[in-house]
Amino acid sequence: MVVGGLLLLGFVMFQAWRHDRDMRAEHQVLENQTSSSRLACESDLTRFRNDVEQAAPLDELGEWVDEDWSAAKAALSRAEDALARAASSPQPVASLEKVTFALEQGRAALARVQANLVGDEPHDAPPCFFNPNHGPSSTTVSWTTADGTRVRVPSCGADVLRIQSGADPYWRTVAVDDLRLPWWQAGANGAPWARGWFARWHNHPLMASMVQAAPVLRRDEAREVSRAA
Ligand SMILES: [Zn+2]
Repeated sequence: MVVGGLLLLGFVMFQAWRHDRDMRAEHQVLENQTSSSRLACESDLTRFRNDVEQAAPLDELGEWVDEDWSAAKAALSRAEDALARAASSPQPVASLEKVTFALEQGRAALARVQANLVGDEPHDAPPCFFNPNHGPSSTTVSWTTADGTRVRVPSCGADVLRIQSGADPYWRTVAVDDLRLPWWQAGANGAPWARGWFARWHNHPLMASMVQAAPVLRRDEAREVSRAA
């Protein structure tokens, strides 16, 4: 009887220990994933802020650039607010998605400003697949993923030229443990960062092939990014 009781107690304690160990491991994985995406969001935000600051003389042009220029600056503020919220939130994933969701809109607005200034027709398009910091794509390109799948993805002009000359595009990398991998190979480590960048384009005809190249963009895995970022 006593031996049976001790065995039962030992079993219960073992189960509790194992549950605790699994929870801690799961928490650590989540922590690593969040911190990779947070670093990626911080560096993209800095890059966009620098681009907005360099374009500051546009302030002088007033009504010529007003609407799109204001939209670019407002998107910068939204990205900054979302990053600040991510820093203080116990569950920062949704806020991190909102950082890149705002940056994508900001890059699109900045591209419209530049197009208007040189008399080009502004166009709205998904960001360059290889590195969304390159801004809205200007074309599409057929590209082979690491596992040999042929896909068509939106691209900036510079990356198309690189692919056509046999070079790799200038892809955005994300930290995974001690490595830096192309974002579409970084899995969950880059997930909040990536989902925000492409959240506005879920109904785009190329989204299916982008999901093939980057499964992390799959809609059923994606959280709904609030438009009220
Ligand atoms: Zn590009």
